[in-house]
Amino acid sequence: MAEEKSNLEDELTFSIKNAWEQSDEEELDDITEFAEKYKEYITESKTEREIIDNTVKLLEKNGFVSIQECDELDQGDKIYILNKNKAIAVAVIGNKEVTEGCHILASHIDSPRLDLKARPIYEDNDASLALFNTHYYGGIKKYQWVSTPLAIHGKVVKEDGEIINISIGEDKEDPVFAVSDLLPHLSKKKQSERKMKDVIKGEELNVILGGKPIDDDDIDKKVKINILKILNDNYGIKEEDFTSAEIEIVPSGPARDVGLDRSMVGGYGHDDRVCAFTSLMACIDLEPQSKTSLVFLFDKEEIGSEGNTSANSRFTESVFQQILAKSKGDYSMEDYRLTLENSNAMSGDVNPGVNPSFKGVHDLRNAGRMGKGIVLTKYTGSGGKFMANDAHAEYVAYIRRILNENDICWQTAQLGKVDEGGGGTVAKFLANLNMDIIDAGPPLLGMHSPFEIVSKVDIYHTYKAYRAFLEAE
Ligand code: MN
Ligand code: MN
Repeated sequence: MAEEKSNLEDELTFSIKNAWEQSDEEELDDITEFAEKYKEYITESKTEREIIDNTVKLLEKNGFVSIQECDELDQGDKIYILNKNKAIAVAVIGNKEVTEGCHILASHIDSPRLDLKARPIYEDNDASLALFNTHYYGGIKKYQWVSTPLAIHGKVVKEDGEIINISIGEDKEDPVFAVSDLLPHLSKKKQSERKMKDVIKGEELNVILGGKPIDDDDIDKKVKINILKILNDNYGIKEEDFTSAEIEIVPSGPARDVGLDRSMVGGYGHDDRVCAFTSLMACIDLEPQSKTSLVFLFDKEEIGSEGNTSANSRFTESVFQQILAKSKGDYSMEDYRLTLENSNAMSGDVNPGVNPSFKGVHDLRNAGRMGKGIVLTKYTGSGGKFMANDAHAEYVAYIRRILNENDICWQTAQLGKVDEGGGGTVAKFLANLNMDIIDAGPPLLGMHSPFEIVSKVDIYHTYKAYRAFLEAE
């Protein structure tokens, strides 16, 4: 009787499996190996531009070429299309006509951080320090960015167009930078009564650059001038050059294993480089397929997908037009319409995993859990599904079938309890082009913090899911 009952339970209930328990020895090795490659990718790429540079290297090593090198496109061709060195599209041309639609993976490669203001360097006489003024980018909890080692990444474009790349604070011999917090002894009145969002205010995110005065009695701002001189000696830049620069202050140091069992990876920028990397690898590793595979890595998602490198720009359409033009020659508006309409997509973005100390924000039956595989999010948004992409039931069924047929561990979740908060992804911008799309990516702990945590087995199942999707009929 007991046995019968449990069979019925197995048959009728939707049980979400622990992905670790589903893995044999061989797959456990693959999971570890894949995580090592991922750690290297995010350790070496801390800005959207660095991601693009390293992605192009990875693609070219695997036989992809710029579309500019191709007069026409044939089945099996592997190409990439760059957009202002901040966004990229990668394609493997399929056996079927492009007008029969593409399988698309879309994610974003920008991450929350501190940007510099246009005129960032100043000397604080009272503190005897030179500092950078910053303006935070994306949704950060500002207090998380103090008292932690920071690195400077980015580029300065000089008036004559010369580009100076800067990366300081990653090499063991490099100095690092920091925003200092107020000591507890003096916090009682000035800081302890503040609300969480103001514990550190935007204007208080000032990055310490140095404290040594230049040896010249005729100079007023001795510490600042000393810093400018060091910058000039090493990079040939002056203060005005910062007005045409994009310098990002990011957490210093490599991605690392987390836990005694080394089951997780901690680091900066899993959101959303974990989806960028897994979708790239899915595209690089895929077996010859029938439909054209397309991977987009977009910029500016963290500030609402604004601007010409975002998912909301005409770049997306330009990619389809370029592929159509080079694979069909002259193409009609009808060809273009069919290509968009027949395409379908997965929007790769991360989800919150259940936080053991703040369970109250999750609806536990509809929350992502670490180690249980890729999370399907039928709809995103906030409140009454405002700003949501809501995938159609038919499409969710199609995706579910692909995942189940390929033994991929998956779970479902929404972004917290109803009315608890919310958020969006790039999905709605592709949906606007009239293609089916669903959000799918691994769960994270500490999203948008300087040290986000993701499970290695979830990274691997995300890769497997993306690959199975690209290889589907
Ligand atoms: Mn994201
Ligand atoms: Mn985000």
